[in-house]
Amino acid sequence: MIDRMEYSVEAGSLRGKKRHGPFPMQTLRHVEKPTNLITDGVQRIDMRNTAYGLAARGEYGSAIQRGVQKSLPGKYPLSAAQKDIIEHIALMEANPVATQKAPIPQDPESLSHHIKSVGYFLKADVMRICKVPASAYYSHDKQGNPIDVRFENAVVIVMRKESNAIQASNGHDWMGDPISFQAYQHLGMVAETIANYIRRLGWDASAQYGPSFVNRYTVLLPPLLLAAGIGEVSRAGIILNPFLGLAFKAAVVLTDMPLAPDKPIDFGLQKFCQNCKICAEACPSKAIPTGGKVMYNGYETWKLNTQRCASFNFTNKKGTMCNACVKSCPWGNPTTWPHNLVRNVVMNAPLMHPVAIQAARLLGTTAPIPEEKWWFDMEYVDDIIQSREPIGGTNGNEETR
Ligand code: SF4
Repeated sequence: MIDRMEYSVEAGSLRGKKRHGPFPMQTLRHVEKPTNLITDGVQRIDMRNTAYGLAARGEYGSAIQRGVQKSLPGKYPLSAAQKDIIEHIALMEANPVATQKAPIPQDPESLSHHIKSVGYFLKADVMRICKVPASAYYSHDKQGNPIDVRFENAVVIVMRKESNAIQASNGHDWMGDPISFQAYQHLGMVAETIANYIRRLGWDASAQYGPSFVNRYTVLLPPLLLAAGIGEVSRAGIILNPFLGLAFKAAVVLTDMPLAPDKPIDFGLQKFCQNCKICAEACPSKAIPTGGKVMYNGYETWKLNTQRCASFNFTNKKGTMCNACVKSCPWGNPTTWPHNLVRNVVMNAPLMHPVAIQAARLLGTTAPIPEEKWWFDMEYVDDIIQSREPIGGTNGNEETR
């Protein structure tokens, strides 16, 4: 058996700087608290009262409830195929926790560096760690069973959405689900592998990932993304990363492995979003507010109208889920050097925000690129694939506007 001390001596070489991942997250300004106010009054949320839960229960009306049911088997053949794989991954039973700890360093810094490196090896885009506030746990699951506060550490895993498809799409056509599910498929594999590996090393772990139909979550992700420094709260009501914009999905592995938390980040987004309303203008259901932030369940945030957003998505007659905010946000521009130059200027010189916003408007990211389109427009109707209208117009349901 390898002696634990052997690794401790080598610990320095195990912390080389090469495993930082594809984005220079380490260069950002790290702060003690997230940049939006969070009070002590945050209440745990019942999963049955999320937008998806309310839509599924019929609280938003019967048309939307029917839309949820219709979306469950997958409306579009490619997303239905992806859904089969995601559900297959989610059937995995947790392997037992090893009865003995592995002979490796036990200090939180070494273990954190190692687990992040494993994530980057498995092709995650960003790996971060945070403590889990008890209020981030849901109070009840979809069946109404109480959820226990079990683990205090979270490994946060981020996977980017495929940017070429986002650019080619109009933001609310048939590629909405496939773009999200592509990230979820990879997140499922990475999160399950990391959780399985941690259990083999002798600590407990739970992988949490997937779209709403998978039902793997016991925690809300946004508070963890904020605490781990994945991004800041945005006008679109979701967390925005400075290198990916809104174009990513996340998963977490909750664990009792001792880990060293990362810090929240501040790249000036609160001021930027205050002036920029591009996503609100691009939102086809007008669910994104154009005004200021409000307090909601102890969080200072721009409050998305989740009923409008869910209504549009689940009654979309010309596509699947909507990505219009993701597509329109200028922070989602590629990480090529000209865009990175603008990113740096914007992060370090708030006076340049109006110029950057005006330039983003003029250059525009909301128009589809038809010559880049490679998918067919089609939909399952009673298990038969039917041809559908291509790009253009709204979701065909004017009531949600
Ligand atoms: Fe913020 Fe503008 Fe992006 Fe909306 S489009 S999230 S307002 S930066």
